[in-house]
Formats: sequence, C-alpha cells, structure tokens
Amino acid sequence: ESFDDMGLKEELLRGIYSYGFEKPSAIQQKGIKPIILGHDTIAQAQSGTGKTATFTVGALQLIDTEVNQLQALVLAPTRELAQQIFRVISQIGEYMHIKCHACIGGTVVKEDIRILERGVHVVVGTPGRVFDMLSRNHLSAQHLRVFILDEADEMLSRGFKEQIQEIFRHLPGNIQCCLFSATMAPDILKLTEDFMRNPIRILV
Ligand code: AMP
Repeated sequence: ESFDDMGLKEELLRGIYSYGFEKPSAIQQKGIKPIILGHDTIAQAQSGTGKTATFTVGALQLIDTEVNQLQALVLAPTRELAQQIFRVISQIGEYMHIKCHACIGGTVVKEDIRILERGVHVVVGTPGRVFDMLSRNHLSAQHLRVFILDEADEMLSRGFKEQIQEIFRHLPGNIQCCLFSATMAPDILKLTEDFMRNPIRILV
C-alpha cells in the first residue's frame, strides 16, 4: 500500500511527499490505519523503523485545523526527542498549517504560556512540563482526540510513571491512546492496561 491509498487529506499527503517520503515503512503500513480509525494501539518498534511518522501522520489526519484547540498530545522521554518530533510534525503538517508546540523543561515557562494561549493543535513534550501546563490550566484537554506515548520504556526507566498517570487523569475519559516502545516489559503492559481499551498490537 502507498500513502495515496490511506485516504489521507490532500494537504497531509503533500506534507509527507515534500518531507521526502515515497513509500510507507512497515510500521507505517501497519500502524497508520488503526490510529486514524480511532483505535488504541500498542506498537513495539525500535527507533529507525519510522515510528515517528506513524503517529505523526495518524494524529495529523485526526486533527481539524479549523478548530484552534489542542487535539493531539505527544509525550517523549527527553527534550531532544520531543524537539525532534516537534520538527517532524511541523514539517509534515506544514501544508495543513498545523500549530505545534514543544513543551519541554529548561525553557522559559512564560514563553510556553504565551504560545499556548494563542492556541495550538499539537503539543509535544516531556512529562514534567506538560503536567505543569495541564495542572495550571494553561493547557486544556477538552478537545483532545489522541494521546501518544513515545519510547514508553524510556519514560518508565526515567521515573516518569507517576507523572504520566497524573497527566492521564487530566485527559478526557474516553481518550484514544497510542503507545510506542522498543520493549514490552511487564511494567509497560501494566501501564497500557490502565489506559487502554482493546488495543491493537503492532509488532515490527
Ligand atoms: P524513526 O523510527 O521515526 O526515528 O525514523 C527513522 C528514520 O527513517 C528517520 O530519519 C525518518 O525520516 C526516516 N523515515 C521514516 N519513514 C520513512 C519513509 N516512509 N520513507 C523514507 N524514510 C523514512
């Protein structure tokens, strides 16, 4: 299957091709469709497989840019990874005019607040700063469609479990969750049991 056959929005397709992708990778072939269909998904995938574009394309297809509200939230274990994901989403979403913001530690909180107040469609962040923004009501999850956890195993090994659970408690009860992890240790599976309903499992 090609990107053309996925029923994607024209501007999203244009973003994918101008980013330089021609054909979906294995995880993109398996993972994009379930996300678009609204399923909770658990994907076991290493970096290098194309996992970032999997959830990027899935999330972008779900977002209505006419609605100036947070619709997708991505958590990553490190600032560097969050910024990397931010760049991918911003570039692939360019023709959709996506408004994406990286909410990460080590930056000026006031600047974050100023950008969030103008309205964003996607936030990519590390758990600490995202939780901070949610709990202080600078981020509203009212219109959130999808919650993505990238490198979940890394997040747990960095001690973010409590914070992820706290964040989850601020999200709408029926939120779609997509989790990506290189390994599927028992603590990850436990986490998914807390968050997910009938998840689709993807292995690459
Ligand atoms: P990731 O697994 O998300 O870290 O992606 C690994 C690398 O593969 C990145 O440099 C991506 O730009 C690249 N990549 C992802 N999907 C594709 C694709 N469909 N075609 C070509 N390169 C890709």
